[in-house]
Order: sequence, then C-alpha cells, then structure tokens
Amino acid sequence: MNFSQQILEWYGKNKRSLPWRKSKNPYKIWLSEIILQQTKVAQGLPFYNKFILAFPTIKHLANATENEVLNLWQGLGYYSRARNMHFTAKEIAEKYNGIFPNDYEIILKLKGIGTYTAAAISSFAFNLPFAVVDGNVIRLLSRYFGISTAFDSSKGKKEFQLLAQKLLIVETAAENNQAIMEFGALQCIPKSPNCSICPLQNSCFAFNHNLLADFPKKKKKIKIRKRYFEFLIISENEKILIQKRETGIWKGLYQFPLIENEEEKSETEICNSKDWENLFKEGYLNIINISPRIKHQLTHQTIFAQFWHIDAKIPTIKNTISIQKKDLKNYPIPKLLEKYLEKIGMI
Ligand code: SF4
Repeated sequence: MNFSQQILEWYGKNKRSLPWRKSKNPYKIWLSEIILQQTKVAQGLPFYNKFILAFPTIKHLANATENEVLNLWQGLGYYSRARNMHFTAKEIAEKYNGIFPNDYEIILKLKGIGTYTAAAISSFAFNLPFAVVDGNVIRLLSRYFGISTAFDSSKGKKEFQLLAQKLLIVETAAENNQAIMEFGALQCIPKSPNCSICPLQNSCFAFNHNLLADFPKKKKKIKIRKRYFEFLIISENEKILIQKRETGIWKGLYQFPLIENEEEKSETEICNSKDWENLFKEGYLNIINISPRIKHQLTHQTIFAQFWHIDAKIPTIKNTISIQKKDLKNYPIPKLLEKYLEKIGMI
C-alpha cells in the first residue's frame, strides 16, 4: 500500500463524525471551513450549529444585516471571516442566484476564500481533484518525507502544494483530502505523536531519524506587536457611549471610546494626554474605577487592556452612539470586551 492508501485505510477506522462531513452542501462546507480556520473543532461546532439554524441557506445569510451576522460570530474572534462570508453570500445571491459555483477558479476568486478553502469546497462538495494543504497536512508531509523547505516561504508553499497534488487519488479526492487532514489532526499531532501506533512509521523520515521536533521548518519568527488599550466606559445616568470600529480586525464591531498607546503609560500620563483632553473638553468627570490590565493574545499582537469606568457628561465623538446600558448586549463586540463585561455583570 502506498502513502495515500495507508492514510485512507487509517481514516476509515479513525475518522470523527462531524456534521459537515455528512453533507455535500457547499454552503455548509464553506461555513465549517471558515470557522475552523482559526478555531478548534470542539469550540467551533456550537457556532456552526447556531449559524446553520439562523441562516440555513446562502440566501438567508445574504439577506441578514451585518450586525446579525457579527452578533452570531461573537466569541469566535477574527471577525473579518464573518464579514467576508457575508459579502460573498451577497455576491453569490446576486450573481449566481444563491447557488454556490462548482468551478475551482470561480470559487478561488470569492472574497475570503484562499487556495486551501477553494480546494476544500471544490473537493468535498463537488469531488473536484484539488489537494488541500493546511497546517495538519504540512506537518505530516514534512515529517514523513523529511522536507526541509520552510513551509511559510513561497518556495515551500509551492513544494507542499505540488506534493499534496501528486499524492491525491483523483477519483476519491474528497475522501482523500479529508483523510490526510484528519491524519494530521489526530495521529501526526504537533507535540509527542504516538508514532508507535502509526501505520506510516516504517517509512517516516522524521521518526526513523529521530527528528520529530525539527519538522515542519519555519522561515522566521513573526514579531509580536504590543498594544496598550485604555477603554473608556463613559456613563451618564443609564446611558453609555459606544463606538463602531471602522478599520482593523474588529471592523464593524462596537467598542468603548479608546485611547491607544504602543507602550504602557501611567494613569496620570493618560489623564494628561492630548487624547484625553480632546475627549473630555467640558462638563463634570468622575473616574469611578480602573480595572487591572487584561492580556489578550492575537496571532500577531498582544493587547494589554484596561477599562476605565467614568461618570461624565457624554462627550461628542465621531462614530459613537449613546445607548441604554441594558441594550449593550444587542451590539456585536470583540471577545476581549465580551469577557470583561460578562465578568463584571454588565452583559
Ligand atoms: S511516524 Fe510519527 S511522525 Fe511519522 S507520520 Fe507517523 S505520527 Fe507522524
């Protein structure tokens, strides 16, 4: 048996039962793939079920408002995924009458869909012969074949894609793709895989050279950016001020007016800053409480956030709206805010 046949055999015995695997519906497959891009299966599953219930078809998603979509996505993070899905659903509804295109090149052109997701949808839904290459596949291939090219280099990307394509049994592209990803996710796991029960052990390069920890190779460490956020929860009686973000990873979500710094500042420095002065030009001001700093880790940045609870005359600030405190739960907010507000019982 060759590599792909062994993986298929293993898959037959070990695969997990996941709802999107039971479906050939490209919309459901698309949704599951987008959710699983940055989320583990166990965490993503309830969101998938919630989403399908609220928007059973592409047309339902296309007809939803951005707030409805982002509200359902709340807690999953990386909101550009939800915004892109919403945009693409509208495009499919308009251009293709709500029917997901069954052509790889067309799928690849849709917003938010890269080579991996296009291959996954094309093969899982339409059995088209395009190999998927995700982190699980890269780890398995690099270990098994002893590939030393950095997977995040352009040379590495091509090399892994070509190899996966070569290994794909085109007649059973869907199952083959599912199998290789599942093998990487369950058997050839990142830390301490149980090689003693692995069917590929005899011919695995990394195992036989005792080089497991050396694969896959990475180009360079990405510098993590540090950001210091001062969220100002400004209340006037039962009213509170929230602001819609126009850019960045939280685009479209709501937050509190924010003072941002690249380094940590003392409370006195913040209160004496130009930003503070611009916000509180007139009226009374009473700082009730300042939360401890909360660390929030994203892929390429670490956010250190503090929440300032302030009683003040509601200032006039661009893109803000003044709402009743009790209505805060109706607005999509970043996970960092959600966690904090839940903790203090504000939502
Ligand atoms: S032997 Fe170990 S390292 Fe090699 S493919 Fe199997 S699980 Fe992965």
